[in-house]
Amino acid sequence: MICCFMMINPLFAQKYNIIVKGGHVIDPKNNINEVMDIAVKDGRIAMVAKNIDPKEGIQVVNAGGFYVTPGLIDMHVHVYQGTNLDQQYMNGPASVTPDGFTFRVGVTTVVDAGCAGWRTFPDFKKNIIDRSQTRVLAFLNIVGDGMRGGPFEQNLKDMDPKVTGQYAIKNREEIVGIKLAHYSGHEWEPTDRTVEAGKISDMPVMIDFGGADPPLSIEELFMKHLRPGDIFTHCFAQLASGREYVVDPVAGKVKPFVWDAIKRGIIFDIGYGGISFAYSQGLTAVKSGLYPHVISTDLHIGSMNAAMKDLLTTMSKFLAMGMDLQSVIKATTSEPARVIKKEELGNLSVGSDADITVLNLRKGKFGLFDHTGYKLEADKKFECEMTIRAGRIVYDLNGIANPVIVSGRR
Ligand SMILES: [Zn+2]
Repeated sequence: MICCFMMINPLFAQKYNIIVKGGHVIDPKNNINEVMDIAVKDGRIAMVAKNIDPKEGIQVVNAGGFYVTPGLIDMHVHVYQGTNLDQQYMNGPASVTPDGFTFRVGVTTVVDAGCAGWRTFPDFKKNIIDRSQTRVLAFLNIVGDGMRGGPFEQNLKDMDPKVTGQYAIKNREEIVGIKLAHYSGHEWEPTDRTVEAGKISDMPVMIDFGGADPPLSIEELFMKHLRPGDIFTHCFAQLASGREYVVDPVAGKVKPFVWDAIKRGIIFDIGYGGISFAYSQGLTAVKSGLYPHVISTDLHIGSMNAAMKDLLTTMSKFLAMGMDLQSVIKATTSEPARVIKKEELGNLSVGSDADITVLNLRKGKFGLFDHTGYKLEADKKFECEMTIRAGRIVYDLNGIANPVIVSGRR
């Protein structure tokens, strides 16, 4: 009797929940760069092989002609969205909600870049992290209140390395580093306190200089204050004042000490944002072989409809600048996972969480511009066909799954 039941009930007949068939898999951590099938079972990667029988899958995804990558990681976003109008990114209107901006562009993990400090993190966790289908990790702000804006982020008295570092340790499932942002003074004290919290927690720090004018020396930052593994975000920004940049625009060259910083292990993160990326920096850098370790968006209300738009547009710009496809995928999968010390993420190893992205590298005529108005004409642009998060299809642009069932929240 049991046998008969199994034969007529397809749920018992098939071994896998999903099989992604015929896509060109790019999995930099496992050195895979060829057409492969992927089987998913109980939320995890069950098999990556040349030819998996489609009859074994409850849902079969036709990924022929597409690239299949680990679920993308956006290592710099602002997602502590809230209704306190005077609080900017911390429980305020300058942040966005994660699920509305992630799956449609292939992102399965975001790392919030310091919206919350130790005092506000419990609310962030309760209202955003625990309620999102997107995996939300965080850099904890060195400021106890987080990104509350204005004088709150200039307040040295609220930058406590011990409390911040110890709080990060207690919440290490979600907290992956310490953030300094927006500080406009000339002292190194905020940077040093952030690094101190990073030492206490054994986590990397992410530094976004505010707007000291004249700017603080980034050579001194890289060589004297940061540790190997610490992150310099907005690395290809070129603003009129307030921050030193990595490419000397007059000489048209990457500054010599930047290569030493790379050798020392300083991590370069794009953090594109509203005005924190310019081709005047990026083109020279990429052409000189200075690839960013991590490509990220700095997603917030001011960048999402401007030049930045989303992670796939940002990745397309790096392709257009001459960065190779493998490196672009690595900078949004295994490399951010390594940087935040969550190496279980950003790959398609058997047994890991089944976070998978199916990308169409569309051919056509595209205009990819930066905030200065400089535009690259491109003949290729990424589009997200499908996103699978923890073994469930959460986004399917053209219904390439059979049967077409998307397990979004209803
Ligand atoms: Zn940011």
